[in-house]
Amino acid sequence: MTDWKTKAATLYDGSFRPMVIGGQWVAAQSEEVIEARNPADGTLLATVPRGSKADIDKAVAAARKAFDGPWSKWTPFERQNLLLKIAEKFEAEWETLCLSDTLDMGMPIQRTLGNSRRVLGMLRYYAGQAVAVHGATIPNSFPGEIYSQTVREPVGVVGAIIPWNAPIAGSIWKIGPALATGCTVVLKPSEEASLTVLLIAKLMEEAGLPEGVLNIVTGHGAEAGAALAEHPGVDKIVFTGSTATGQAIARAGTVNLKRVSLELGGKSPVIVCRDADIEKAVPVAAMSVFANSGQICIAGSRLFVAREIHDEFTRRVAEFAANLRIGHGIDADTDIGPIISARQADRIAGYLAAGPNEGAEVLTGGTRAEGEDLTGGHFFHPTVFGGVNDDMSIAREEIFGPVISAMPFDDLDEVVTRANATPYGLAAGIFTTHLGTAHRLAHRIKAGSVWVNMYHAIDPAVPFGGMKMSGYGREGGAEHVEEYLETKAIWINAD
Ligand code: NAD
Repeated sequence: MTDWKTKAATLYDGSFRPMVIGGQWVAAQSEEVIEARNPADGTLLATVPRGSKADIDKAVAAARKAFDGPWSKWTPFERQNLLLKIAEKFEAEWETLCLSDTLDMGMPIQRTLGNSRRVLGMLRYYAGQAVAVHGATIPNSFPGEIYSQTVREPVGVVGAIIPWNAPIAGSIWKIGPALATGCTVVLKPSEEASLTVLLIAKLMEEAGLPEGVLNIVTGHGAEAGAALAEHPGVDKIVFTGSTATGQAIARAGTVNLKRVSLELGGKSPVIVCRDADIEKAVPVAAMSVFANSGQICIAGSRLFVAREIHDEFTRRVAEFAANLRIGHGIDADTDIGPIISARQADRIAGYLAAGPNEGAEVLTGGTRAEGEDLTGGHFFHPTVFGGVNDDMSIAREEIFGPVISAMPFDDLDEVVTRANATPYGLAAGIFTTHLGTAHRLAHRIKAGSVWVNMYHAIDPAVPFGGMKMSGYGREGGAEHVEEYLETKAIWINAD
């Protein structure tokens, strides 16, 4: 059994961690830094560069040089081999990567460790995709010997901007398809969680990634992030984060008509029908929100329960929630870790106050969690609100914290209408033992992913993404790789 606390003491010691531009590990040109603190207790883990426009300019130039230079000569088979080597490296260093994430952004260590199937799978999946990309020879209507064919080319320099809630999977989901297709990357991690992304870049370098192919600029959104989003030297932006920021990024991209893909927020419905297997549904519905303390874009935070079973079901979800263990992510038995920052914690506290003010009933939780072990961090009791109606702010707005709003429904048409009455369309859960109901609901809910009698399934080979204001573009699956490619038609007159 790994002694996580001992291992943690050797990983970060408060010192400066540089970012990487063109293969050089550097400070920001301004030499300013951002503190990386452990959200569980506030200890200083490290400082990272506070990058800004000048650093983004350098990183984009380095990415362009690599794209036009030696990287463009790598064959798909060489890129495939590199991705496989990176996967091997990650597998060997998996515990260190997960520990880094737990220290830097608070996710319970058991959960970070559990992401290996997905993350290592992504690297190996994209390795496969690297050699699967091809164009076509297409018959045309011209008389004579005129041939037409398509070739697929990498889109170019990709700017990637990610949030703090899943740095490993979030960054690999941007870097993997870029390496598969021959693009180069400038990645800006969240100012709240940069350390693991820097570690990822180090491991990729050790696995043989050439200089300039992956550049990391740490920094704030309004400085480094905005500079990347509007940079005329960037061909495509891939963004994961809030809907408001996604809108700003889409606007900034119009400067040079960048390709843009956006993975944004959600307010996902979980629908529990009266014929659901309650025993199985309770923990899944609860953890659809409480995993990662509710800091997940797909959180099933609107719990619609058939009126006949509503009281029993919500009581059991509340009991389940009350038994979850709150603590530091580094403790192997922690279910609910800290919230990333004081700012996010204040937002959540605002919703915990708004719920009862607007007439909701607290079935469990409803407050911050305090205690000797929890000082220096921001912790909340997992909360279930009953007596919620669709108009309350807790039922409409993304909370990004451990809060469920439970509501009864009477029939399927009604619940479809209510579930879809949101600007978001990221995910949905359905619990039923009736095959027809499962199909009927799954087809009528407007969401990029619908899970039946399960939740949270995200896989390298299956597309994931949002409808409506949850964004556009898909990550995962063959169509993900398409987003990093341009199609060129080549005509040949052989007459
Ligand atoms: P955020 O939008 O505040 O920040 C995300 C990233 O964008 C950060 O790196 C930030 O520095 C950067 N940024 C901020 N302002 C910017 C600007 N003007 N220009 C360019 N970059 C800018 O989001 P957050 O609070 O870090 O993350 C939480 C949000 O992310 C939630 O809404 C959540 O639902 C969403 N999210 C979505 C998915 C998904 O796949 N759909 C996954 C995880 C998180």
